[in-house]
Amino acid sequence: MRIADLRQRLQALGALPVHQDRVLRHWVQAKPMEASRRKIEHFLPQAVREDLPALTATLDGLVRLQSEHPAEDGAARLLVALNDGQTVESVLLPRDGLCVSTQVGCAVGCRFCMTGRDGLLRQVGSAEIVAQVALARRLRPVKKVVFMGMGEPAHNLDNVLEAIELLGTLGNIGHKNLVFSTVGDERAFERLPLGRVKPALALSLHTTRADLRAELLPRAPRIAPAELMDRAEAYARATGYPLQVQWTLIEGVNDSDAEMDALVAMFKGRYAMLNMIPYNAVPDLPYQRPAWEKAAELARRLHRQGVLTKLRHSAGQDVDGGCGQLRARQAATGAE
Ligand code: SF4
Repeated sequence: MRIADLRQRLQALGALPVHQDRVLRHWVQAKPMEASRRKIEHFLPQAVREDLPALTATLDGLVRLQSEHPAEDGAARLLVALNDGQTVESVLLPRDGLCVSTQVGCAVGCRFCMTGRDGLLRQVGSAEIVAQVALARRLRPVKKVVFMGMGEPAHNLDNVLEAIELLGTLGNIGHKNLVFSTVGDERAFERLPLGRVKPALALSLHTTRADLRAELLPRAPRIAPAELMDRAEAYARATGYPLQVQWTLIEGVNDSDAEMDALVAMFKGRYAMLNMIPYNAVPDLPYQRPAWEKAAELARRLHRQGVLTKLRHSAGQDVDGGCGQLRARQAATGAE
């Protein structure tokens, strides 16, 4: 379901945009609709007031918390059921962040990712994306939303941009605290600058080598890494939020001296920072996690050479930390 569908439903009942906003704001900010109904009812047309219980049930039914898996670092992985029985993962991040999923499965097929293994199963509607935020807000405050869960946001652009607009206008989330993540897609570079809400941009680069990137991300658009950086950085400069380059560090794959030197050269003069995240090994996949100390040394080295580098743990890594692992385990075993 899309937010446009919700607006249409309200409009058909006589709700003006201001009325629609009032209802949607209550939903996305996770104010208990029931408790605050009296407050908002006052301002709504009669037909909308009468529809509120049914609408509340519709909104509450969009997603359901299937299971919650707290991690030691303050993160928690949530397995979220959609109303057709499909599941996606959201991750409560430390410091009031939330990572949401934008697709069930993913067509990019990154070799190191569990989500990519089965291809794309279906898109997640904009209302379902926002519902992940509303659901998380019932558990803890959410002040930042990153679109880095299951799926490639650029492959579900209409829904993702609609969700971003709602979160950035009625959802009480600063625009720079909305982070659109992509493997690099022309459609995203074209559409993002046109949005009413312009999110920060994260580019999943992972390597400076075009050949290795084509191997690791087999169905990502074949845009050369340097050109990707140009396109993404142009958007970052236009928004005033530095480009966040994502680098999943995989032992023996993209941790070589040559890669580090190429990164330093690629970052020279860029309005960008590097998030280096040591890979979480996934059973059945041939990739390994580098030792933390080695990753820390690489990060220090890059930093010394002018690349603003943050070494991060993948949040919640002690709980089936790779993207898509919870869902895969649940599908395989029926476990909650
Ligand atoms: Fe898709 Fe992201 Fe997994 Fe790649 S890493 S297959 S883009 S979900």
